[in-house]
Amino acid sequence: KLEKPEKASGETRTVLGVRISSPDRVVFPDAGCTKGDVAAYYAKASKRMLQSSGDRPVSLLRCPDGRDGDCFFQKHAGKGFPDGIGTVDIEESSGKTEPYMVIRDAAGFAAAAQMGTIEFHIWGARTDILEKPDRLVFDLDPDEGLTFSDVKKAARDVRDLLAGIGLESVPMVTGGKGVHVVVPLRRTAEWETVTVFARTVASFMAQRNPDRYVATMSKAKRKGKIFIDWLRNDRGSTAVAPYSIRARKGAPVAVPVTWQELSRLRAANSFDISKTLKRLDKPCPLQSVEANQSISQAVVEALEAQISA
Ligand code: ATP
Ligand code: MN
Ligand code: MN
Repeated sequence: KLEKPEKASGETRTVLGVRISSPDRVVFPDAGCTKGDVAAYYAKASKRMLQSSGDRPVSLLRCPDGRDGDCFFQKHAGKGFPDGIGTVDIEESSGKTEPYMVIRDAAGFAAAAQMGTIEFHIWGARTDILEKPDRLVFDLDPDEGLTFSDVKKAARDVRDLLAGIGLESVPMVTGGKGVHVVVPLRRTAEWETVTVFARTVASFMAQRNPDRYVATMSKAKRKGKIFIDWLRNDRGSTAVAPYSIRARKGAPVAVPVTWQELSRLRAANSFDISKTLKRLDKPCPLQSVEANQSISQAVVEALEAQISA
């Protein structure tokens, strides 16, 4: 259960040693959720979040005036940044080197909440080996009018295709409309291999089932279909972090689930903050997959065999 704010705004509260200013400021008017509630949630979820989002470049969706105010997506560390958030210099494809944010300990999540962060978004690689991703994400984006059952079927289709070529995956409901099918990887292949693999899988799905799936960004071609967004798997791209609150109505949370749990869910925004907190004593479904798999030559060949069959 979330703590109710006891102090008048203007006072501060300390969460994991981080001073949270204006903890009573309402961030989600519809859910009655304050900045203090957001910080308290991230403090409680921080250990779990470190497992999947620690030590990697992270972008923040900050909404200093709450969800209904102006929100901005921040990729680079700025001036006057709190100590709780680390940085790593990364050379971007343009050749320019920029400081990216990295969360290295639990207090980093509280420090981000103090800056008005609602959402955390992560790279697919960790800072110690930036050029070799440790996760692959298929972001399933349904067109208007499709149901969550359609999304679940798409997720199972992706799962089955991957399983058939030797890759285990875990679904995550995003807190929005869709599901991310996440594939933990051992860090052997570089970005290019992983990007091409993701694109090939998405294109194959669309080719096999052109009425249901599309693998191109073009909005016009998406009518009535599910876009299998493979573009999250580029160096520099992000996907929403597991256990991130979303800046959407009702303060939903992005939550990894088991395939069995997914089959019973009715929406991608089924988990609110308190429902998510109750799950934290159980192991995370994402950690149940041994990251002992990779986009190996054998996996690529198995995919090619399926395509030409
Ligand atoms: P939904 O299930 O509603 O689609 P989502 O988180 O998958 O939720 P998408 O719009 O599909 O939302 O975006 C997928 C991911 O791409 C996001 O989680 C985010 O990390 C990244 N992304 C989306 N829009 C932007 C943006 N404007 N700038 C940077 N990254 C973005
Ligand atoms: Mn999506
Ligand atoms: Mn998308």
